[in-house]
This record gives sequence, C-alpha cells and structure tokens, in this order.
Amino acid sequence: MKVSKLLIPTLREVPAEAEIASHCLMLRAGYMRKLAAGVYSYLPLGLRTLKKIEAIVREEMDRAGAQELLMSALLPAESYQKSGRWEVFGPSMFRLKDRNGRDFCLGPTHEEIFTQTVINEVRSYKEYPMTLYQIQTKYRDERRPRFGVIRGREFVMKDAYSFDRNDAELDQSYQAMYDAYCRIFDRLGLDYTVVDADSGAMGGSGSQEFMVKSEIGEDGIAFCEKCGYAANFEKAVCTVQASDDKPELLPMQKVSTPHVRTIEELTDFLKTTPKAFAKTLLYRADDKIVAAMVRGDRELNEVKLQNKLGCIELEMADADTVCRITNAAVGFAGPVNLPIEVYCDLEVAEMVNMIVGANETDFHFENVNINRDFKPTAVLDLRLIEKGDPCPHCGEPMGVAQGIEVGHIFKLGTKYSDALGLTFLDENGEEKTVTMGCYGIGVSRCLSAVLEQNNDENGMIWPVAIAPYQAIVVPVNYNDPTQSKMADEIYTSLQEQGIEVLLDDRDERPGVKFKDADLIGIPVRITVGKKAADGLVEYKLRTGSSATDLSVEEAVRTAVTYIQENR
Ligand code: ATP
Ligand code: MG
Repeated sequence: MKVSKLLIPTLREVPAEAEIASHCLMLRAGYMRKLAAGVYSYLPLGLRTLKKIEAIVREEMDRAGAQELLMSALLPAESYQKSGRWEVFGPSMFRLKDRNGRDFCLGPTHEEIFTQTVINEVRSYKEYPMTLYQIQTKYRDERRPRFGVIRGREFVMKDAYSFDRNDAELDQSYQAMYDAYCRIFDRLGLDYTVVDADSGAMGGSGSQEFMVKSEIGEDGIAFCEKCGYAANFEKAVCTVQASDDKPELLPMQKVSTPHVRTIEELTDFLKTTPKAFAKTLLYRADDKIVAAMVRGDRELNEVKLQNKLGCIELEMADADTVCRITNAAVGFAGPVNLPIEVYCDLEVAEMVNMIVGANETDFHFENVNINRDFKPTAVLDLRLIEKGDPCPHCGEPMGVAQGIEVGHIFKLGTKYSDALGLTFLDENGEEKTVTMGCYGIGVSRCLSAVLEQNNDENGMIWPVAIAPYQAIVVPVNYNDPTQSKMADEIYTSLQEQGIEVLLDDRDERPGVKFKDADLIGIPVRITVGKKAADGLVEYKLRTGSSATDLSVEEAVRTAVTYIQENR
C-alpha cells in the first residue's frame, strides 16, 4: 500500500479527550475516531490490527476444537426474561422496541441465546461435548465508558460457550479454553497474569481472569511471588492470625464523642488508632437492610458480602435509612442492640475491647466484645485485601497491582440450562441437565492492552503478529530517480514474498516520514536515502535504537526472515 493513498489522518497534537497512552496513540496515529462516548469507528490501520487479533483468536479457538458461528446483536427479550437477566442487567442493557412494541435488546453477552440454540438444534447426547463461539459486537451501556476501546459501550468480544454432560467433561472443556487463552495472549505479545475471579453473582463453580498488569487497569489484583497464588481483589481470600495474648475483657461503657463523624476524628478524639475501632456499615440488599462490620483501618469487599447474602442489588443504605434503623445520625452505627442482621469480618471477631458506634448521636461504646455484647448473624471473610497481607496459601506477604481484564473463563454449571431447560437423554434414556462454561475475550480491548505495554515517546510499537503492516519503505526523497527506483524495487520484492508493506511515496520532509512511521508503530523500516547511489539502504527495527546499512538484497532478506520468524 502506498502511504499517499492510505487514509491515515495522523494528528500532531495530543487529543484532549485521551487520558491514557493507548487511547491517545490510537487517535494520534489515525487508527480510530470517536463517534460518541464509548463508541468508535475504526479507520484502516486500526481495523487491520483488530482483524489480526481476531484472526489469532479464531485460529486458537479452532485449534481447541471450538466451532464458530455468528449470532445477531439484536436480540428478542424472551430468553433474557427467562434467565432473569432482563432485570439483572438493569441500565447497562441497551433496550429497544420494534414497531409492534415487542422488546429487544442489543446483546451484552449471549449465554441465553447460545443455550437456546443448543436446545433447538442439538438432537443427541452424542453431540456433546461441544464448544461454540463467535467474534461479535457487544453492547453495554457502561456507567463510565472510558479509556477509548478499553471500556466501550460497543465493543468486539469473542464469546465461547461449552456444553458438557458432566462436571468431568466441563473440566476438560474449561482446560482447553484456558490453554487456548494462554496461546492467544502469548501470540499477542501480552505480559499477563491469570487470577482467580469471583463467580458468585453468576453462580458456577470456578472462574479465572486473564489480567494485563497496567497502572491504568481498573481491576485490583493480589499476587504471591512465592507460590504463584493470584486473585482479583473481589475474590482474594483474606486470612486472620488469631493472637495468642488474650487481654482481659473490660466492661462495656458509653463515651461521649460529640460531633465526631469520621474515623480520623474519632481516633484523634479518643487518642487511639483505627485498628481499635470496628466500622458498622449499613447496606440495602435487595429489599432488606443489613449491617456489615470491618476493622476501622479496613475496607469492606462488597462482592464478598453480596455473595454471602445472595442478593441481586447491594448498595450502601442512604442517610435516612441509617438514621431510621440506628436512631442516630450517620456516623454512630454500631452492632449493640441493632435490630438487623449483622455480618462480621473475621478480623472483627478477633478484636477485644473494640470501639463501635452506640446507635445514639454523639456517643460510642468502648470495650465492646463479640458474643458478649452482640451476637453476629455470621462471621466471615468480608474485607478487601491489601498489599502485604499474608498469602492464603503460603503466608508470604502478597503484592498488589492494577490489571486490565482481557479475558474471562467461567464454569457456569447448570444456571442457564436449568433456567431455559437444556437437558439430554443419556445412553440409558435418563434425563440429565447439560452443564455449561462461558469464555470471553475483549478483542477490541486487547488492542489497547497491547499498546499500553508497547509504546514509547515516539509512538506505537506493534508486535509483528498484529502490526497493521509489517514493514515500511521510506525513500528520503521520492523525487530522486535512484531513490524512487530502489524503493519501488524493495516494495515490490517484499510484497512478492508475502510481506504486508507500506511505501511512503509522499512528498514530505524525511523527518515527517520517520515520525509517522514511528508513530504508527511499523516493526521494520527500510530507509532509502543518499547511500542509494552506493547500493545501500538503512535497516531499522521499531524496537531497536540503531540502524544498519545493508545492500538491498540483504535488507529484504533480513526483513523477510525477521517477519516470518515473528508473525
Ligand atoms: P469488566 O469487569 O471490565 O466490566 P466484565 O467482567 O463485565 O468486564 P465479561 O462479561 O467477563 O466482562 O466480558 C468478557 C470480556 O469482554 C472481558 O474480559 C473484557 O475483556 C471484555 N469487555 C467487557 N466489557 C467491556 C467493555 N465495556 N469494553 C471493552 N471490552 C469489554
Ligand atoms: Mg469478566
């Protein structure tokens, strides 16, 4: 492709809307343009890279024995109503009605539709195990679309669904997807970590996420360098060491704490530390109000609480509700005589003589002790993991990082097959329920994730495997007949050998051409300049700092070998 003919509207300025490197670069390098919040158009270079990622995903899915099909994005409501997710998705589902008033949505994910397809089309138990997949556009009206295609409202996902006759088969299907995901993310050149993920809200027996460590990642991950345990924050197990010294239980007493609302104010006022205090937080769980307690210096992990309660919606109770239930202003809630269920974190259960709110404005209790002064409904792991917490497997202090979730694999079990009625008759004529798994990859999100890990001050640095073009030939002066003849030759020769190559035939200053080649991140650059008269060109890799003078044949040969070895 000749650059003069290519739609590649690069920008010199850093676009104001872009907060992160990948987003900024995709706009600057003319890979994509924004249409609305979280909605983007792919221009030619962006689309080529997206298609290459898709091709890798497709190859590895096929290699793993999954079969590709393609579902509509426009979906009738019925199967989502049957599974209950018509409600569960809430405002994040794009909904619409047809001219007859019938409900539709734009598919956010397709468990129901695949399940229904298998119900309709699979005739015999012998057809299982079966894994189906598609690479398709998804719609979610995200609360905060941001970071370009990292969190879009329209995005490309590869979603796969496995259908098995029993748990042992599901384990195998799941493992096949796990292995395929590792090959995919390896081929994309991503540095990633597989973490245990929460499977509570969706049901199911196991779930892992593929995380790309990155400061801009929206998910917290905890990992142990020693034993390899890794989990996302929602799932990460917090342990508590029971202390050996058992201080004497002191009598509970009420203390006046006027105008003290925050933990900082309280600890200043009582001259103590947040560790001596237990927070009592009130939540609305569907239609009941519950309390949850964590130590004063800890954060509550809402996912853990939600899983315990099995509720669909969990949100902090509003101020009016808190006042009504505690009979006190916000900031003075405590577990003693609280007329609702109280869930206690493991650490709180180990506390002795703790300080809590007194359910009375401007008062706290000191020396409160669990089971003596209040009886919790349950004691469980409720807190959010922190850096340095002991690994639940080996006890070593854990590290934390931010991650971008690029893939998610999930043992669903029978949630959807039960809801929609996907059963089979086994070889003995006995009716059994099909057990399922689901497996997603954020194909368009991968584009950004790769870029986040592969860029420098000059622009993008694409791995050969997904670069929009693998090589670029840059004649310094295309009006010079020697240079243009040589550049054309190299261009044709590379094309003939199956290399995807650009020829920068524009009448631009060399500085502009080099800047653009670096910005759009083409892995191999062959520059044809003054030394063309001596039969020499400059060979340079986007990843390397220095250029080498080579003969035309050598340059072409080196480029072809390098690209073939890395694609
Ligand atoms: P997140 O926690 O980031 O919102 P999710 O867990 O809701 O994602 P899944 O339902 O597991 O997402 O979807 C499978 C994959 O699709 C994710 O692992 C992610 O890579 C990708 N994905 C999800 N939401 C978006 C989005 N809004 N924009 C781009 N990719 C997305
Ligand atoms: Mg997920």
